[in-house]
Amino acid sequence: MKKLFIKTYGCQMNVYDSARIADLLMPLGYAAADAPDDADIVVLNTCHIREKAAEKVYSELGRLRRLKEQKAEQGSRMLIAVAGCVAQAEGDEIVRRQNAVDIVVGPQALHRIPEMIARAERHEGRVLETDFVPDEKFDSLPAVRAEGPAAFLTIQEGCDKFCTFCVVPYTRGAEFSRPVAQIEMEAQRLVEHGVREITLLGQNVNAYRGAGSDKSVWGLARLLRALAQIEGLKRLRYTTSHPCDMSDDLIDAHRDLQQLMPFLHLPVQSGSDRVLEAMNRHHTRDHYLRLVEKIRAARNDIALSSDFVVGFPGETDEDFEETMALVREVKYAQAFSFKYSARPGTPAAAARKQVPENVKSERLQALQFLLGEQQVEFAKSCEGRSMQVLFEGRGRKSGQAVGRSPYLQPVHVDHAEDLIGGIHDVTIARALPNSLSGTLLRTAQPEAAAAN
Ligand code: SAM
Ligand code: SF4
Repeated sequence: MKKLFIKTYGCQMNVYDSARIADLLMPLGYAAADAPDDADIVVLNTCHIREKAAEKVYSELGRLRRLKEQKAEQGSRMLIAVAGCVAQAEGDEIVRRQNAVDIVVGPQALHRIPEMIARAERHEGRVLETDFVPDEKFDSLPAVRAEGPAAFLTIQEGCDKFCTFCVVPYTRGAEFSRPVAQIEMEAQRLVEHGVREITLLGQNVNAYRGAGSDKSVWGLARLLRALAQIEGLKRLRYTTSHPCDMSDDLIDAHRDLQQLMPFLHLPVQSGSDRVLEAMNRHHTRDHYLRLVEKIRAARNDIALSSDFVVGFPGETDEDFEETMALVREVKYAQAFSFKYSARPGTPAAAARKQVPENVKSERLQALQFLLGEQQVEFAKSCEGRSMQVLFEGRGRKSGQAVGRSPYLQPVHVDHAEDLIGGIHDVTIARALPNSLSGTLLRTAQPEAAAAN
């Protein structure tokens, strides 16, 4: 049996794509390898969003080249494939910089991997595919396999927003939404295999416009309402949303659907109108704040998270202060923040007023300190509360299980190992720096009674 090792960088959409690559190759006789040393093929599923992410790939390729050479000396062959957004954006560069690479495959062409491997094995030289054919991709992928009670499901790919700092519209192409029936079938299958929570994925997931079975175009709200009908599917989430596509019917879905978890990732990027405009975000600070108000009015227990980019070209101290003030006003449960990284080919990379690296670092530190305080404050507010936890796996201690709260926090519970796969009521005893610990409110209940 041949062995496959996949290393995934970047976002959840890459995690989903890596699982699909495994789904494609397992039926062809590949088993999972624990490490590259043990593999006949190594796939790096890459991320191009920031310079650091892309550079990591080149250093990993250097290590893999040495491994490939060692294996060749011992008479065995290892193929190296680069998939994902670096492959899409820098296919030719990869081939030029690292001649050990056999296969380069963009995110929309990954369904062609089996054929590409066959060609590489026949020594046909480098095999490169970076076409944009998302409908062909989803039509050609095999049925998903479920691993554990929580799963990702990509419903939308690509982006038409063209934020001036971002490579996604170039690496993932134009917005494409999968048809409703295909998504329903995948969700149904996941549930039949024990999945209790599905996170719908898209670069711009709330811009979802999929063809319904009645030939009309469905938005995300309608899709969520339909998926909530699937028996056994207890939890729904979606990510990542753009504030401009946060429609009233989607906010109503948060009010009406108890399966929709009260946690929303709604990136604002900056609190300054001047910067938001230069970023081409198509919304103002005020628009975002009013949106937050509306969402909280619809579902008062909702917690929010966001992405922030600091040190965007031309960002002044005053602009940055507006970001800090917005964070103080919204109060996030969790957030991701990044230093602006100039990406070749994006409009902002050519801007003359780049912010010096040391200023970016200072601002990032200040923002992360504030966001860290808010995260701790939110976690502390969970102490003493009872919440439903979906147990996903074993903890470090014997008998302990780890699950996720409705707010995606990891929750450790002793003597709960036998409950893995189900949703159970837990009283939160302590907030630790990055997780919660709790005790079962009741001993094992039949899942239907304990969950939602
Ligand atoms: N579509 C989502 C949105 O609009 O919020 C986000 C997609 S992107 C994969 C994830 C995050 O990476 C962005 O929200 C942004 O904060 C960050 N990001 C994107 N380009 C960046 C860049 N050039 N430098 C630093 N951070 C960046
Ligand atoms: Fe990138 Fe903006 Fe599209 Fe998000 S909305 S993927 S940040 S271009």
